[in-house]
Amino acid sequence: MQGRYSGRSVAPEGATIPRERALAPHAAPRFFCARARSQTAAHLLNPTPYAVQIPRPALPPHRVLMGPGPSDVDPAVLAALSRPTLGHLDPAFVDLMEEVRAMLRAVYRTDNDVSVPISGTGSAGMETCIVNLVEPGDRVLVGVHGVFGGRMADVARRAGADVTEVHGEWGRALDPAALRAGAEHDRYDLVGVVHAETSTGVLQSIPPIREVADGLGALLLVDCVTSLTGHAVEVDRWGIDAAYSGTQKCLSCPPGLSPVTFGPRAVERLGKRDRSVQSWYLDLSLIGGYWSPEAGGAPRSYHHTAPINMLYALHEALRLALEEGLPARFERHARNAELLRAGLVDLGLELPVPEGERLNPLTVVTIPDGGDDARVRTELLERFGLEIGGGLGPMKGKVWRIGLMGAGSTERNVARCLAALRDVR
Ligand code: PLP
Repeated sequence: MQGRYSGRSVAPEGATIPRERALAPHAAPRFFCARARSQTAAHLLNPTPYAVQIPRPALPPHRVLMGPGPSDVDPAVLAALSRPTLGHLDPAFVDLMEEVRAMLRAVYRTDNDVSVPISGTGSAGMETCIVNLVEPGDRVLVGVHGVFGGRMADVARRAGADVTEVHGEWGRALDPAALRAGAEHDRYDLVGVVHAETSTGVLQSIPPIREVADGLGALLLVDCVTSLTGHAVEVDRWGIDAAYSGTQKCLSCPPGLSPVTFGPRAVERLGKRDRSVQSWYLDLSLIGGYWSPEAGGAPRSYHHTAPINMLYALHEALRLALEEGLPARFERHARNAELLRAGLVDLGLELPVPEGERLNPLTVVTIPDGGDDARVRTELLERFGLEIGGGLGPMKGKVWRIGLMGAGSTERNVARCLAALRDVR
């Protein structure tokens, strides 16, 4: 039998591979799985039914990622990913963890001790905040003016909360007065909003939402997945009690971690829970034993195996963001977004989000009458290696979403995208 290391792609002994595939092991990888036969008599005769044609090493094509995320990863971040994996309690790794925490505090602009990267994408951060802050029966008020506000409400409901959704117009910022008016009770435990609604390209001002939360006696939870290091996020100054983000947007890191920050009131709420957090994996009181043991006074201990190399990547991404300087980084995002918007308007395209409410890391543009969404995006990808996003939910088929995030927010990408769009639209 020729095995995995023989240099040829062959199936384990006894497996059947169509002749043309067996003779062409370097053809485009296709999976061949004999599992369906496992209930048959043939299975009894075949001791290795889970045969697979071993594919070539994966070599993804080079793309320019100008969609809603993931964004292009900075080469220095990719290089960081490939450094030697350490044990999750190795003192050298612990030093890196401490640096990551310190840099997260810096980008979130907070003194919060509990500023840690959750293992998982942005949705894991959303879920972490909600399952730690919400107990069954708690009242949660969510402003919904896009997909991600809706998701926050859904997660809160699954955590057993009594959720009030206040719906705003998609493509517009939430009106704080309407949010307040939509509340069905005088008191809430939590108010949740999205700072940068990636589905609509809208930026939400947070201080007026803080006032609404104050009026309801509620903690404030903010989704910063698409804003962190692309727009100012001022956790302490704006009085945000809990926030989460993702690595694959303006941090220009691969997807896989979700930086979360919990302020003193959120930590207090966690400490006063009647029941333990329903998710063991996302329980911050347990995760804290690994990430911030000083709070509990116990030695740092294992909770789950940290995604070591992703943390190298985040470390590098945060370093690059802080080296550039946050104000300069915000200004770069603003400048390139403005260039893109002007170019799109020159092409005769319309920007549905009013000025003053537009995101800089993500521009939403209306697909013109007769425009063929799928054809345009396919041609951009196939002819120019350029990815832009389509609409989500009710905006599907109506808009394109063009990202200029982190390392991808460059004048060159603006020019590249406008030239390609001019050609294919
Ligand atoms: N919140 C917002 C605003 C997002 O844009 C996204 C993803 O695009 C998420 C939450 C969910 O993040 P993820 O897809 O990384 O789980």
